[in-house]
Amino acid sequence: TGINFEKYDDIPVEATGNDIPNPITSFEESDLEPLLAQNIALAGYTTPTPVQKWSVTIGGAGRDMMACAQTGSGKTGGFLFPILNVAFKNGPAPGRELDTKNRSYGGRPKAMPIALILSPTRELSSQIFEESRKFCYRSWVHPCVVYGGSDIGAQISQINRGCDLLVATPGRLVDMIDRGIISLKYVQFLVLDEADRMLDMGFEPQIRKIVEGEDMPGSADRQTLMFSATFPKDIQHLARDFLKDYIFLSVGRVGS
Ligand code: ADP
Ligand code: MG
Repeated sequence: TGINFEKYDDIPVEATGNDIPNPITSFEESDLEPLLAQNIALAGYTTPTPVQKWSVTIGGAGRDMMACAQTGSGKTGGFLFPILNVAFKNGPAPGRELDTKNRSYGGRPKAMPIALILSPTRELSSQIFEESRKFCYRSWVHPCVVYGGSDIGAQISQINRGCDLLVATPGRLVDMIDRGIISLKYVQFLVLDEADRMLDMGFEPQIRKIVEGEDMPGSADRQTLMFSATFPKDIQHLARDFLKDYIFLSVGRVGS
């Protein structure tokens, strides 16, 4: 739905940066974890979009990425596939499992996600969460979502049932971090989706508080993927501050 592959083959993709890994050509020939490949097939995806072809290998190589791509280019799979491929391969980290049990909040384990996806709105966050549920199916990775304008108590009970991959709007996440409900100390993968829109909505202070906070591993100790439709000055600054030796991916015509 929403993707015209005939048109896609004409869309130019340009990758710039150091030591760029080759993109995958198909899901079958890309050595994906069997469970992820199964879930992708169950979702009805047969061919990766250009963003997905590149991000799977860039992510697998442990590299940071800044991708400029238009709406409908398959960016959600573009970050979920590389993250889940690595997460399924590695399995849960024993240290984190113990830590989660020991540091409880209200008698329940405190949430310590390994992947954090920041997204501008409730609607977009819910969409990403629904996509994550499909691709995490029958795996150890429990996805969850938090956003503003909705009962925080219900969201707390949901994340306390398991929170390995967290989709969040910046404001509600800051609130939950301040209340000690969520810790970011085990984040290995950080995604900023629709970064230009988050800045347009005035979320830069919250985003900086989250990403530059004490709890969050530094850029050398996490993998960061940024997505934006445009690449204006303020996004360039975020990329400079949050990413390390990143690969820049430009899909189609990109405005600035
Ligand atoms: P973006 O975030 O770039 O706007 P999405 O990730 O939301 O795009 O994808 C747009 C639509 O295309 C969604 O309905 C999604 O399920 C579908 N889609 C994404 N990747 C594929 C694929 N490889 N094969 C088939 N459908 C896909
Ligand atoms: Mg999207």
